[in-house]
Amino acid sequence: MTEETEKKDIDQNNVSKDSPEGQNKDKKNPIPLGKLPKKPKMGFSIYWIYGLIAVFFLGIQYFNFSGETKEITWQKFELIVTKRNIEKIVVVNKEYAEIYIKKASLKDTLYKDIKDKNGANNTFGPTPHYILNFLNIDIFNKDFNDLQNKIITKDTVNKTAQEKEKIINEVNSIIIKPETRKDWGGEIFGWLIPIAIIVLIWIFIMNRMSKSSGGGQIFSFGKSKATLFDKDTSVSVSFKDVAGLEEAKVEVMEIVDFLKNPKKYTDLGGKIPKGALLVGLPGTGKTLLAKAVAGEAHVPFFSLSGSDFVEMFVGVGASRVRDLFKQAKEKAPCIVFIDEIDAIGRARGKQMITGGNDERESTLNQLLTEMDGFASNAGVIILAATNRADILDRALLRAGRFDRQIHVELPDIEERKAIFMVHMKPLRFDPTINIDFLGKQTPGFSGADIANVCNEAALIAARQNKKIVEKQDFLDAIDRIVAGLEKRNKIISKEEKKIIAYHEAGHATISWLLKYAHPLVKVTIVPRGKALGAAWYLPEERQLTNKEQILDELCATLGGRASEEVIFGTISTGALNDLEKITKQTYAMVSVFGLNEKIGNLSFYDSTGSQEYSLTKPYSEKTAETIDSEVSKIVAAAYVRAKELLVQNKEKLVLLAEALLKKEVIFKEDLEEIFGKRPFDEEKTEAEKKEL
Ligand code: ADP
Ligand code: ZN
Repeated sequence: MTEETEKKDIDQNNVSKDSPEGQNKDKKNPIPLGKLPKKPKMGFSIYWIYGLIAVFFLGIQYFNFSGETKEITWQKFELIVTKRNIEKIVVVNKEYAEIYIKKASLKDTLYKDIKDKNGANNTFGPTPHYILNFLNIDIFNKDFNDLQNKIITKDTVNKTAQEKEKIINEVNSIIIKPETRKDWGGEIFGWLIPIAIIVLIWIFIMNRMSKSSGGGQIFSFGKSKATLFDKDTSVSVSFKDVAGLEEAKVEVMEIVDFLKNPKKYTDLGGKIPKGALLVGLPGTGKTLLAKAVAGEAHVPFFSLSGSDFVEMFVGVGASRVRDLFKQAKEKAPCIVFIDEIDAIGRARGKQMITGGNDERESTLNQLLTEMDGFASNAGVIILAATNRADILDRALLRAGRFDRQIHVELPDIEERKAIFMVHMKPLRFDPTINIDFLGKQTPGFSGADIANVCNEAALIAARQNKKIVEKQDFLDAIDRIVAGLEKRNKIISKEEKKIIAYHEAGHATISWLLKYAHPLVKVTIVPRGKALGAAWYLPEERQLTNKEQILDELCATLGGRASEEVIFGTISTGALNDLEKITKQTYAMVSVFGLNEKIGNLSFYDSTGSQEYSLTKPYSEKTAETIDSEVSKIVAAAYVRAKELLVQNKEKLVLLAEALLKKEVIFKEDLEEIFGKRPFDEEKTEAEKKEL
């Protein structure tokens, strides 16, 4: 029963905010370790296609215009025939005539318009010199015959019989050669252009799709998208790089041993486990741990995410699973790491509303089949990560599949210190920085958050041209990761500023006065991220929370709104974040944790997740009403209590708010000046001393 310990309280003045938390969204930014830059591939690229098509077009243009053929009129044709300069005529497709001039006649000035492709005059080439278009082959034949007869009658006047015969022969010997030609260029073009357009569109779509799903390849739909790290791109992560997580490491080291000396286990008849499931919140180092296993065992490491299997087409997921296992078996012994396996491994058949996602189910089935399919000594070990083992399909957790579960928890203070040490190593930092202190300042942070803090601190220091990273830079980085970037130039009116100051002062006052409220670190009214003001607390690291603690926290969270009412007599929208938190917490208190007398020791929480999709509530209408009324009662009582406390301490509240308005940020020390030392803190330190 871990009640989520909030490390922050951020207020918003704008109800329309869609992001309820002023949290920095990029705070989880896992840096892939051991991921080497990919070698540039000279592979198949879309530009090749573009290039080829362009070359093809140019080529066709070039060949088509190898020589210049002029079109002529019947008049000129008649002139040429009359001069008896025709070598031959080729009638193409009964559509036009190609006219070849006798080589000897080309010198005639009549033909000075004939140019070859280089622009030289009167050359005789294989291409026709002229083209004559006609409408109808029969008319052309008739006209040509008439022309021949005309020439013969005209030219043979006053000629001897011998000469006559020669002329007749010459005129009649003009060959008209019919030819049928296929216009291949045009034909192919007619085909090619539509096909090319379709192909281009297809490629474009594929490209867009594979880009949006992370891959770069076009023709590898059914291929798995696993990234392979092997000898060439060796995984340089070792257990040294994984701080803390001692228990997880012990379990995982066993897997390394399986991979290194399988015989030791198989000789005794033991079976090597096929898979292990790493369960933990995001950023707790699951991927890191899996990489460390591969790095330590010196085996190839396939890494992919559960969502990589999912595509919009049916059957792709299953085929990707098949392909993944095929590749893995080729590389055995190896490790396959599937991140976020819940994307495919969710329990089957639970979506009663959507009617079930067949594609995801068949992907999961394929995964189960493949895991059963290979022999246990094949040397393929599958590690999967999820942050919700409870919603996974039971079949996945059966023996012979992911039968081992390794829990990766959020780091405790000692582990945080160790993680800080790992990630501060590459930084040049002030050696007087107390890592203990940093560990204490970061409750609830995951390993990834801490890595982010270290990086952010270095960036902040660099921005101020510092030679080394100082303590303040780390603190600023922590603030930034908790609450987002400071926005000093957000426009806030004087009145609004006053309301924000009193709101925050209300939180601070109540958390100071109540025994179980989280101790305050600092309060600010400088806007940050989406929040207008914030109070930082240092939650205790506790595994159990009792009823009094929750009630005190509720009261402190309501302190902001209560203060507004006590001071101004009216309330604002600025408490949205507070109210959301309170509603969740109180409902959880009543219906999940069984901390309400009326409802009794019942919990309607369903750890199997099968309730998630159901429309009905697991309790009766009457119980629902009771829950609602109990929640209202608890919140109302807490609000009254908050107001009473503030009325009793009104002068101090005013002092605090005014100080806040003047300084914008105030720390625990300033509160001590106003309220005196917090009695509970002393009690606690006494108790701590005794423990030691
Ligand atoms: P997960 O897979 O659990 O979401 P990752 O393994 O990707 O988290 O962790 C993200 C980053 O956080 C890692 O690359 C590493 O820099 C840092 N990190 C997380 N846990 C640890 C740890 N125990 N020791 C050192 N670094 C860690
Ligand atoms: Zn508030």
